[in-house]
Amino acid sequence: MAGVPVVEGFFDPSVPALLGTRCTECATVFFPAERSWCRNPRCESTTFDEVELSREGTVWSFTDAQYQPPPPYVPADPYVPFAIVAVELAAEGIVVLGQAADGVTVADLAVGGRVKLITETLYSDDDGDKLVWRWRPIKEA
Ligand SMILES: [Zn+2]
Repeated sequence: MAGVPVVEGFFDPSVPALLGTRCTECATVFFPAERSWCRNPRCESTTFDEVELSREGTVWSFTDAQYQPPPPYVPADPYVPFAIVAVELAAEGIVVLGQAADGVTVADLAVGGRVKLITETLYSDDDGDKLVWRWRPIKEA
């Protein structure tokens, strides 16, 4: 896919997959990637492996974002409200926030529903498309 991530280092748009780190001692997974010291209070490790996180998960919580969220979100300009989803990743068990995919509203979301990671264009400028990760509900058969 053409384009580059709006924020460098959070995801690989060619997979697409979120990029995190895993502590080499206690195997705790961090997103955004932790590279200085392990945040597990019982672990003193300072070494991490770079890992691609699960591309699917289940909806843990969701809301209509009526305010501008903090980084790493880069808002569209002008800001438009969107559904924001907290997703528990299948393998890691950690919760990652993200916008819902284009056209997805809170009416399309349900706690416990399965979603997959996709990449969409947040905006385009002279340098090309700027990409963000988003969550799209998986249609159950
Ligand atoms: Zn650790």
